[in-house]
Amino acid sequence: MSFPLPQTDAKTRTHCPYCAFQCGMLLASTGHEIEGDPQFPVNLGRLCVKGLTAGELLENPARLLTPLIRDASGTLQPATWDAALDRVAQAFHATQRQHGLDAVGVFGSGALTNEKAYLLGKFARVVLRTPHIDYNGRYCMSSAAAGGNRAFGIDRGLPFPVSDIALARTLFVVGSNPFDTLPPISQWFEAQRANGGKLIVADPRRTPTARSADIHLQLTPGSDLALANGLLFVAIEERLLDEQFIRERTTGFDAVRRAVLQYHPAEVERLTGIAETALRQVVRLLANSGPSMILTGRGPEQQSKGVDSVLAFINLALGLGQVGKHGGGFGTLTGQGNGQGGREHGQKADQLPGYRLIEVDADREHLGRVWGVDPKILPRKGRSAYELLDSLGQPGGIRSLLVMGSNVAVASPHAGHVIERLRLLDFLVVCDSFLNETAALADVVLPVTQWAEEEGTMTNLEGRVIRRRIARRLPHDVRTDLDILGGLARRLGHGKHFEFASTEAVFNELRRATAGGIADYSGITYDRIDREDGVCWPCPSVDHPGTPRLFAERFHHPDGRAKFHAVVHRPAGEEPDANYPYYFTTGRYQEHYNSGAQTRNVSRLSTAKPVPRVQLHPELADQLGIDNGWVLTVESRRGKVDFQAELFTGIRPDTLFAPFHWGGKHAANLLTNPALDPISRMPEFKLAAVRIAAVRQPDALPVEASA
Ligand code: SF4
Repeated sequence: MSFPLPQTDAKTRTHCPYCAFQCGMLLASTGHEIEGDPQFPVNLGRLCVKGLTAGELLENPARLLTPLIRDASGTLQPATWDAALDRVAQAFHATQRQHGLDAVGVFGSGALTNEKAYLLGKFARVVLRTPHIDYNGRYCMSSAAAGGNRAFGIDRGLPFPVSDIALARTLFVVGSNPFDTLPPISQWFEAQRANGGKLIVADPRRTPTARSADIHLQLTPGSDLALANGLLFVAIEERLLDEQFIRERTTGFDAVRRAVLQYHPAEVERLTGIAETALRQVVRLLANSGPSMILTGRGPEQQSKGVDSVLAFINLALGLGQVGKHGGGFGTLTGQGNGQGGREHGQKADQLPGYRLIEVDADREHLGRVWGVDPKILPRKGRSAYELLDSLGQPGGIRSLLVMGSNVAVASPHAGHVIERLRLLDFLVVCDSFLNETAALADVVLPVTQWAEEEGTMTNLEGRVIRRRIARRLPHDVRTDLDILGGLARRLGHGKHFEFASTEAVFNELRRATAGGIADYSGITYDRIDREDGVCWPCPSVDHPGTPRLFAERFHHPDGRAKFHAVVHRPAGEEPDANYPYYFTTGRYQEHYNSGAQTRNVSRLSTAKPVPRVQLHPELADQLGIDNGWVLTVESRRGKVDFQAELFTGIRPDTLFAPFHWGGKHAANLLTNPALDPISRMPEFKLAAVRIAAVRQPDALPVEASA
């Protein structure tokens, strides 16, 4: 399977390679000139510094341009495509013959196009017949997805267009810093402010987003759920609920009413650090000012109680009757470029395309028909992302692994342990554009196209399906992930299931696979996407307009109602104690994206932020006897990292923050806790207990910290 990739000379309308905002951009065929696309209704021409500089990735000297195979001396050597693909196929075949079908695993990515995500899932189930496929979106959106499915019967990050933000009279952002992570969104916040709206932000740090807020709730890390329950307690006490909405459009409120009785403001202040006056002020704004909107981010979600935290905020939005209102409701800000589509089309251990479930017989039968296989051969549910990685090289675990578009050695919690596990594999193959920290451990590395050289669809944070278009010729000897999957399928005896004349043909099979599912793409065509600037799913027929707004009349449970869930606060997997007295939390810089595999190769970005720094409060710095720029050895129960100190009055004195974009000795994830949410299997990235093991001035020897 190979795809025609024509070169074009005019500027091409396409989308940024990075985050879920998927800003529209105009790209010259050189890739050097990038400007925002003023026609695209999400970013209206604005780009952040990452998008503006993305062209530097295309002819980057660090880019992989030929397959690599590790030789007997342990060195990665250039190889032909035939040799590399033969080596992969032989390794998978040998592993499965010796250890069984389940001994090969697949790890995908929320950066893959819908077509790639779809074919990767099909490759795992039909060619390898392994249950063990998961992806890095498990680390990003799984708690939000599980919360949305439970409460609304559907998981779409924003169930409304991003422009609805401007209509909210009160906007409550919880654990997200979109001014840094998706800066063009700030225009919608500005419009909301210009319309007289209020902004409330809950975050342990005074981020740029929090700084612009009318009210900043600087809560204790890990206390989001208690905050939401406390706000609902006050809403009940002050009779601010929308009783008619609760009666007519929801089920399960009585149990929630009982559960939040214990969240008296004094108790909530003890758990969250937020005073009663602030709680009352927030609830009154949310209830009385007009349509109000609650948006969560990874703060409440990347916790071992992430699903319950999401449900607590949904309970609040439902109780106040805001969900489904124009300009109101609940949403979650998706992170990765195709974080939405990537979780809809079968990369997840328990899912089939269109949000069908691999354990549901009717869903298996549907996919069996589309794929032309007996549904009985389809494997059942496999391990979640961290559990899959934790099983590498273990008895009964994965012996050979295919990684496509994910830098698991940097992006996983307890990264040192994951790297040890990767080293235990019999065979590792990585498809990527750069020799990132995971690829550097591989037996075979396969160089792939980048966004400007390939076509396909992405689904942005609104559920809008958009087109990535080809702007430049692909470099010699680089292939698309789709081509690689086809080549491997042929070598493993299943080529007939991977015969596609074009990327659009893959999409057309995806449409059939999703028909009748929750994420129904069957009415979306490439042509429609071009004409309509994207189409929002569900879209069950070509004459259906698509669904930009959900929930105006009904929710997606069979009875049409939303479900309340009674949830209660519980401690994190690890709380600060006498030995590890500080909270450690992670997040992003504006200049970098996820594991930094791409952005660390862009000169303007790496110059602006060459290394991670740890933020701490000046009071804590005083106790430690240190100043800006000193080096701290931050230690958790899992590892140690040396960071330069950045003193910041906007962080709580009990909390340290560092970005997670670096690997090696700078990897914040050496410290993070792999405690998993029992429902979503989301690791607890946002909360670990740490101590400061040593401090030193730059270039001095470390001394043990005395605080
Ligand atoms: Fe837009 Fe995100 Fe790209 Fe920045 S990184 S230009 S916000 S899509």
